[in-house]
Amino acid sequence: MSSSQIVRNPFAAFCRKALADIQAQGRYRRFTPLARRADAYPTYEYTHAPRAEPGPDVTVWSANDYLGMGVEPEVQEAAIAAIRAHGAGAGGTRNIAGTSPLHAALEAELAALHGKEAGLLFVSGYVSNQASLQTILTSMPGWICFSDRQNHASMIAGIKGARGATCVIYEHNDLADLEAKLAAAPVDAPKMIAFESVYSMDGDIADIAATCALARRYGALTYLDEVHAVGLYGAEGGGVSQRDGVADQVDIIEGTLAKGFGVHGGYVTASSEIVDYLRSAASGFIFTTALPPAVVAAALESVRLVRRQPWRRERLFERVATFRAKLDAAGVPFMDTPSHIVPIPVGNAERCMRISRRLLDEYRLYATPINYPTVPRGTERLRLTPGPFHTDAMMDDMVSALRTLLREESLDEQSGATSRA
Ligand code: PMP
Repeated sequence: MSSSQIVRNPFAAFCRKALADIQAQGRYRRFTPLARRADAYPTYEYTHAPRAEPGPDVTVWSANDYLGMGVEPEVQEAAIAAIRAHGAGAGGTRNIAGTSPLHAALEAELAALHGKEAGLLFVSGYVSNQASLQTILTSMPGWICFSDRQNHASMIAGIKGARGATCVIYEHNDLADLEAKLAAAPVDAPKMIAFESVYSMDGDIADIAATCALARRYGALTYLDEVHAVGLYGAEGGGVSQRDGVADQVDIIEGTLAKGFGVHGGYVTASSEIVDYLRSAASGFIFTTALPPAVVAAALESVRLVRRQPWRRERLFERVATFRAKLDAAGVPFMDTPSHIVPIPVGNAERCMRISRRLLDEYRLYATPINYPTVPRGTERLRLTPGPFHTDAMMDDMVSALRTLLREESLDEQSGATSRA
């Protein structure tokens, strides 16, 4: 090859083709620029890119800051005070000067919340799942991980990333299938059952007690993702395992500080030995800069408030019940889940995107469209998460907009129309 020859790397062409395919399948992701107003949650400023000036306010119905803790004045103040005291960043990994007394206090608080001996912070809930599962499942040869079919991408990344481990997928929340699969596995292989409590897309809830009973019978470790439950369920917001009185039966409880607690970060709680092992062996813990002190201080304040203020949970579930009653009265179909998540079935990707777009443009309401591959084709939906801050008037606006749009869009569908400007 002469020195003047240029060899083209194929990746740019690959990207072009892959993006065209994604677009053709209606799966191209467009982000909606919405700036949360801390003084008026759940109101956001809607900033149309590329226009620079702020647009009119929008009521958001799909946020995962379920209790609005991220805008609580005490939580904000804790962050501001920590920045003033300790600066903006952590300054290093947990080993390299990144551990402050705030980190240790938050880990102790989370361990106490779940009734476990110890807790360990990660930079996000995603990383806590990915790093913990991968580390545990590569620790000894022969691990078999029994994974619920609907487990989150971060759990799948950890399980699939564990070289040498076997992943056995059991049907979603199907304990008969799980038991059959456990029974078929070699008796002496190290086993784990990895599952979630509240599944965020269908809003259904696992039977933790029965899963743990199976785990005991077959000698399996239990790993429970309570990301969509912490702060919301249980006397102190310790999740569904706390509500059901079975937290002590779960070996590892994983959670996020970004949803019910409204801030950022992830964690696991477990026995001191398990936590110490993860602290010593999990690459995703060891080799990344620690969470900033401001984030940790805000999360600590939030967890403390949420633990001792059950009225926040009561208010949330009262609002969810009121919203469901209003949908019901207006004849708007919804999936009647046992959780705080209210999915509105739409059943078609294009229609789902269109309704979400029209809610925003015509009604200044924001509800996320959930399409394939997040949910199976034909089960596309809008995912609504009513919270303590959604007023009756806001609910009436949403219910009436949904009633109009669902009717119009299904008529359009019948007449063969497929797109609306
Ligand atoms: N687990 C589940 C079930 C989730 O839905 C998510 C995020 N939506 C995560 C873990 C990751 O949590 P985080 O956003 O804190 O990274």
